[in-house]
Amino acid sequence: MKKAIIMGAGPAGLSAGYELQKKGVDSVLLEAEKEVGGISKTVKYKDYHFDLGGHRFFTKFDEVNQLWKEVLGDHFKKTPRLSRIYYKNKFFNYPLTPVNALSGVGIFETASILLSYFNAKIKPDKEETFEQWVSNRFGKKLYSIFFKTYTEKVWGIPCSSIQAEWAAQRIKGLSLSSAIKNALFKTKNSSIKTLIDQFDYPTHGPGMMYNEMKNKIEKMGGNVLLDRKVSRIYHQEGRIQSIEYQDTSGNRYTQEGTHFISSVPITELVKMLYPVPPEEVIQAANHLSYRSIITVDIIVNRKNLFPDNWIYIHSPEVKLGRIQNFKNWSKDMLPDTNKTSLGLEYFCNENDDLWNKPDEDLFRFAASEVEKINICEASDIEDYTVVRVPKAYPVYMMGYKEYLGTVQEYLKKFDNLQLIGRYGLFKYNNMDHSIMTGLYAAKNILMDCLAFDTWEVNTDEEYHEEQKERPQRFRRRKVPVLGTSSTQQEVGYEK
Ligand SMILES: Cc1cc2nc3c(=O)[nH]c(=O)nc-3n(C[C@H](O)[C@H](O)[C@H](O)COP(=O)(O)OP(=O)(O)OC[C@H]3O[C@@H](n4cnc5c(N)ncnc54)[C@H](O)[C@@H]3O)c2cc1C
Repeated sequence: MKKAIIMGAGPAGLSAGYELQKKGVDSVLLEAEKEVGGISKTVKYKDYHFDLGGHRFFTKFDEVNQLWKEVLGDHFKKTPRLSRIYYKNKFFNYPLTPVNALSGVGIFETASILLSYFNAKIKPDKEETFEQWVSNRFGKKLYSIFFKTYTEKVWGIPCSSIQAEWAAQRIKGLSLSSAIKNALFKTKNSSIKTLIDQFDYPTHGPGMMYNEMKNKIEKMGGNVLLDRKVSRIYHQEGRIQSIEYQDTSGNRYTQEGTHFISSVPITELVKMLYPVPPEEVIQAANHLSYRSIITVDIIVNRKNLFPDNWIYIHSPEVKLGRIQNFKNWSKDMLPDTNKTSLGLEYFCNENDDLWNKPDEDLFRFAASEVEKINICEASDIEDYTVVRVPKAYPVYMMGYKEYLGTVQEYLKKFDNLQLIGRYGLFKYNNMDHSIMTGLYAAKNILMDCLAFDTWEVNTDEEYHEEQKERPQRFRRRKVPVLGTSSTQQEVGYEK
């Protein structure tokens, strides 16, 4: 009898468990935290719901859309989108619209933007780094105004050290010329991937979706064990035999299974394997790194602050990266609509100065920053909570692919272990990509094959700019491109 052990109950692990349990395969999910959802969970503080960032539900995978609707039904609502960039005391449309961007920066900057754009068209640079990739499409000047500062806040490293692949994955389909064309000839069916005017959102935030998925798995007979951290994975002759996990008191337990699925960070997975992998694999894993975020969630005693769902803060004078305004995502995110609940996002490294600041100091710092950029008065903030999210982003540093390749090759030799999810695959996945990898893994187990390659989800750099939506189908190993998702995406930014 098949029995699947799934490590991690974020969107990827839950989707795998949901699909397997639905088709009658016994599944046990082990989750290190006290709740499910991973970085897509929702934090509840005094009847206020705080999303960790802001999670738009948007996908071109029909199967993921169906799953979301099946799980949440009427609690899944269409939400209009407004997001802008704040730079030099001005707001700019995001995604960038040429007239707004150019009129906002003034006539001299406009001339310089256009000159540098034409220069990039005539003499494009090679495309190894983020800086080169964006400059080739927008010109150096526009890149330096609208991409550089924010991207460097997110990553904490110069854009010249970020692999171009990240821009290719995230920005896709957008360039100054495509933005101009889109502004002039925008049609209803225009499908440049970044330009999306609405999205779906659960009434109480993304955690609602994943809590409900957990409930449904349990109703179908599956087990979702919380506060259970996987600590060791035993293998023999190319097969995983069992895993060991611990509860919060340090008690150890063992689970055996026929199939194993992991959404835990790949860098941690290799270190849990026993017998231990060769030293070069461990060393390669040590070269892969993550960026973390802190959200300072504040409750402001003001009814209306701004109409956006979120604002990107490009201004270099503050560390603040992005602000979410949750009542504009769903009115049910807060108990009192006379107030406003904001999520202030700071990008950092685990254990750096910001990360280690006591909550109260972080709050004071964040309050002074929102006041500095005229979002609200610090004295209007009546309460706050701080959430630290380690490993929020896999970092696509120059050279990371080689290290990842070494780890990937080693792990491929285990024929009953499948890797899924954002950290399981060390890939900049959105929820839909992660879910799709979970569904792929489940299908492989159901069909007794490895036909669906989880590494192939979200690898559509080959796609043409402004590619039209394709029908979604599964992509099988060694079969040329069948389908893709791609959500959104944002110019150089998470979401
Ligand atoms: C600021 C921000 C904004 C975002 N916005 C969007 C958006 O708008 N739209 C979108 O689609 N996506 C968005 N994302 C991405 C989305 O959050 C992720 O794609 C998604 O949560 C990944 O799901 P996952 O299951 O792969 O991984 P995770 O959510 O990280 O889940 C992995 C789970 O594994 C558990 N785990 C780890 N180690 C162990 C262990 N040893 N034992 C047991 N369990 C373990 C973790 O606790 C976690 O619950 C955003 C991300 C961030 C950081």
